Amino acid sequence: MSWGLANLKHAMRQPGCPLCRLQREAEARYLENLLWENVNDPATREQWAAGLGFCSRHAWQLQRLEARRYGDGLGNAILYEDLLQRIIPVLETLARPSAVDPPSLHRRLGRFLSRLPHRGRARHEIPGLRGYQRCRVCRLGEETAQAYAEWLIEGLVEADVCERYKTSDGLCLPHLRMALSCARGRAPQTFAWLARDAARRLQRLLGDLREYIRKHDWNYRDEPMSHEERIAWIRAVAFFAGEVENNGSLDDRSG
Ligand SMILES: [Zn+2]
Ligand SMILES: [Zn+2]
Repeated sequence: MSWGLANLKHAMRQPGCPLCRLQREAEARYLENLLWENVNDPATREQWAAGLGFCSRHAWQLQRLEARRYGDGLGNAILYEDLLQRIIPVLETLARPSAVDPPSLHRRLGRFLSRLPHRGRARHEIPGLRGYQRCRVCRLGEETAQAYAEWLIEGLVEADVCERYKTSDGLCLPHLRMALSCARGRAPQTFAWLARDAARRLQRLLGDLREYIRKHDWNYRDEPMSHEERIAWIRAVAFFAGEVENNGSLDDRSG
């Protein structure tokens, strides 16, 4: 059995979407390695600069990780010092009076644009104030999930993998789409099997969700709710949105 399939089978024993779990683990590992030894690694720094940092979710995850693991913020401080050094000259250029004249703005910012070749720039965006690559951690997480989706499609031809999958919590919608598009054309039976399995799971979820709603009615308030019914609304969020680490905010960071 391949290394990937072994990890997948292990993840199918844990709660929640197995691909979400493996994706989260890969993302967390990347952030841990970043703090542990890669803050000063030139290639890692280039990735960090290319995205002007990470997306909001992963930036706060890195902040929490360093605060909790090391009780300190030196790694984050070094990384953001780098970004500040890159972004301040851009703003200083924008602050010059000629910067309000669009043709002049683009001329003057030509060198920033060539250094930060921004793809898919929206019209309202100011050149140089956005990274030219998506968050490195998001991209890594998606590549990881994609690799495991392929292992899953290959593995589902084996009876024991099918059985393990059936007793797992199944895939969330984003990963179900990923797995179905892996299987399409190449494994038509697995494609149909996955779709049928998902429809069955969602029928059960719909039943639990309806019971949850019904038992909120005053007339049925004394009927006990099963655990599955009580968490049906959370299972629905997890299915449609997938599962990620908690989002960051400043609220819980005063201490
Ligand atoms: Zn998922
Ligand atoms: Zn991200």
